[in-house]
Amino acid sequence: MKRTFIALLPAALLCSSVAVVAQPVDYSKLEIKATDLGNGVHILNWQGGDSLILVGDDGVLLVDTSVAQMGDKIKAAVAKVSGKPIKLVVNTHAHADHFGANEAMANGGAVIVAHVNLRERMANGQTIAAFNQTIPPSPPAALPTITYGEAMVLHFGGDTVQLFHVRNAHTDSDTLVHFKRANVIHASGTFGGDGSYPFFDMSSGGSLAGTIAAQEKMLSLADSNTRIVPDEGDPGSTAVLRACHDALVEIRARVEKLIAEGKSEDEAVAAKPTKDLDAKWVRPGGFLSGDTYTRMAYESLKSGNASAAR
Ligand SMILES: [Zn+2]
Repeated sequence: MKRTFIALLPAALLCSSVAVVAQPVDYSKLEIKATDLGNGVHILNWQGGDSLILVGDDGVLLVDTSVAQMGDKIKAAVAKVSGKPIKLVVNTHAHADHFGANEAMANGGAVIVAHVNLRERMANGQTIAAFNQTIPPSPPAALPTITYGEAMVLHFGGDTVQLFHVRNAHTDSDTLVHFKRANVIHASGTFGGDGSYPFFDMSSGGSLAGTIAAQEKMLSLADSNTRIVPDEGDPGSTAVLRACHDALVEIRARVEKLIAEGKSEDEAVAAKPTKDLDAKWVRPGGFLSGDTYTRMAYESLKSGNASAAR
């Protein structure tokens, strides 16, 4: 049987490169840190997927609802910034720390928008092999009621909010969310922030090539002042995104060369193709070591996901 990198990963609850934990999280102890990014946009940080809010005169747009257990805390964090209702929700991808509290938001009157693949994955349930995590089908009330295919524009709170689908990137359900006036982009999971390789979830349709393409899309939208919101943690700069992109392109070239030379997965790992990049992009305490990332890259490039993402 083919050996996969999956066996090397700890059981995990969340999807970022940083927050993977072997033990269940005690959500009662988690605090949400809100940071004002200007022009009505605020980031809500906790130990899982970053949420963003855009505050308008009539209501709030919320990007990513967090896990179900954190829904009340997200609502409280939003209420601290604005007394207006959460009117619109955008889910960036089909990992539970990004859509888990959808039902609570919908029950409060919010309309939920997402890529069509996200609705399908929520409706059917899914197994995320990398985390040994099974997500059951979501109740109908939690599902997005508005879905799109390639792109969509929301006009909200005086800002123009562009949604772009990027194929087979962090997952097959990713939405990049570009707040034009605020000059902020939510990267779904296609950017790990400063000092972390971005994880791509192949069991949810993600790939290395698609992650690189997603980063190129963001670079085409960004200027030197854009803040790029990662899966978890503080926003990164365009310069950091470019450096991460360049590292991934280098890794792709090196691993493709090893594959072309006929190297097995284990031989590719032994060749340490990420060695000079790991000091910058392996976060201490995270699960994405250079060896793990090499396995992911090898499996992704070998599987043909590279062409699927084009
Ligand atoms: Zn994720």
